[in-house]
Amino acid sequence: MRLGSHVSIAGRLYLSVARAAAIGCQTMQIFSGNPRSWLSVKYDSADIAEFKKRRQAAGISPVTIHLPYLVNISSPDDEIRRKSVKAVLADLDIAKRIGADYLVVHAGSHRGAGRDVGLKSIAESLKEILTAPFGSVSLLLENTSGAGNAMGAGMLELGKIFNYFNHEERLGLCLDTCHAYGAGYDLATEAGLNNLFADIDSNFSFSRVHFLHFNDCRGALGSGLDRHEQIGKGFIGEHGFRLILNHPRLQQLAGVIETPNPNPDDDKLNLAKLRQLST
Ligand SMILES: [Zn+2]
Ligand SMILES: [Zn+2]
Repeated sequence: MRLGSHVSIAGRLYLSVARAAAIGCQTMQIFSGNPRSWLSVKYDSADIAEFKKRRQAAGISPVTIHLPYLVNISSPDDEIRRKSVKAVLADLDIAKRIGADYLVVHAGSHRGAGRDVGLKSIAESLKEILTAPFGSVSLLLENTSGAGNAMGAGMLELGKIFNYFNHEERLGLCLDTCHAYGAGYDLATEAGLNNLFADIDSNFSFSRVHFLHFNDCRGALGSGLDRHEQIGKGFIGEHGFRLILNHPRLQQLAGVIETPNPNPDDDKLNLAKLRQLST
């Protein structure tokens, strides 16, 4: 399993590679711009060329771009939905230009309009998005912890979305361990982990799973809370991460931490912890 971290692009895009390499990343995730803004950024060609060169030299693969938090492709509000589609297409364009492999977006929220409305909205959004030229990029929906009106917490609902489209190579899943735990999948135990995989198998092809987010969980099992914790210090715990990291079905995948990092060394320490638990 290839392990890495979410890293900052502050300053210049290419600087993110050195940040990733310095903490021992084999794979990495970035925001293309400000995660709390709708504005998409423009990188100049020198920055992109340098990024590609340095990434190659550092042997970092795959590279993932995470969409901003404001994006809601399940929104019942047509203006927000359109803005969200535009944001996904803008990041898809960036992903192709910088040679990223995956684009991760949360399934979004129906904002109280009901799950059926949410499903209709997300289907509408994906229909527009998936007809764009993708190159070798894949769009990954990230499972959510299910709080409030969040879509895509359970594998049943994600399966409904995936199976609506034929684009198996363009549309897959980014599996977040904290969100799965918050949604009621007990990843602290082997039975719970196998139950998650069985739930995937009965709703969509396991080959849809491309990327992982390794986060421990501060919220209780099934609480719906999306509160990340440092690896080993939450409810999933060291034992749970040992099970996840060594599970035969996940060995060909890659994933990153998105753990809290109040101290400068936190990402490095959490990544080292993952590596230690994976052997
Ligand atoms: Zn995540
Ligand atoms: Zn989260």
